Amino acid sequence: MKLIFATHNQHKLQEIKLLLPKSIELVSLADVNFTEDIAETGSTLKDNALLKARYIYHRFHTNCFADDSGLEVEALNGEPGVYSARYAGLHKNDADNNQKLLTELKDKLNRNACFKTVIALIIDGKEYTFEGIIEGIILTEMKGIKGFGYDPLFQPNGYNKTFAEMSTEEKSKISHRGLAVNKLVDFLSANTH
Ligand code: IMP
Repeated sequence: MKLIFATHNQHKLQEIKLLLPKSIELVSLADVNFTEDIAETGSTLKDNALLKARYIYHRFHTNCFADDSGLEVEALNGEPGVYSARYAGLHKNDADNNQKLLTELKDKLNRNACFKTVIALIIDGKEYTFEGIIEGIILTEMKGIKGFGYDPLFQPNGYNKTFAEMSTEEKSKISHRGLAVNKLVDFLSANTH
């Protein structure tokens, strides 16, 4: 079965390709010559994942899935959430986003946060969503140089190192994205042939 992954991120595509059953021919937006950015206008991660998947499904009449992820901080009422990539502005800069997060949390005792991923899958017009969540805390200073985004500030519960101090393999085993992808892979393995 041909399945479009509605992403421009080749790294994410390759990662998921390795995990999917052989019966799935995974293609990217580049493979179908789609270069536009789909505006993420939803107010939740699930809305955004669904709107991207629906857009691609209707445009190409091909089974597809899309993902959306973000960081939700308890003391900030779930912010930055859907705005995670553009928290400090539309230039989408990781260092600026981390700095803004530290400033917003200055003097806050509650440092609880979670990373969340929602994957929306559309098969023959039917919609399915898969969610992955990892809980942790936001440190008061950055630690580690690996990863991306808020990784240097996020320490998962039960660990004394941040995502930015973990290898990709170690992070993927416990991360929001890894958990959501595992659910997607389990579903596709059981329901496609
Ligand atoms: P996306 O939906 O996967 O593109 O994620 C949106 C934004 O959420 C990213 O630009 C990051 O700011 C943040 N984010 C999502 N996942 C992670 C992660 O695993 N580590 C750090 N930041 C993340």
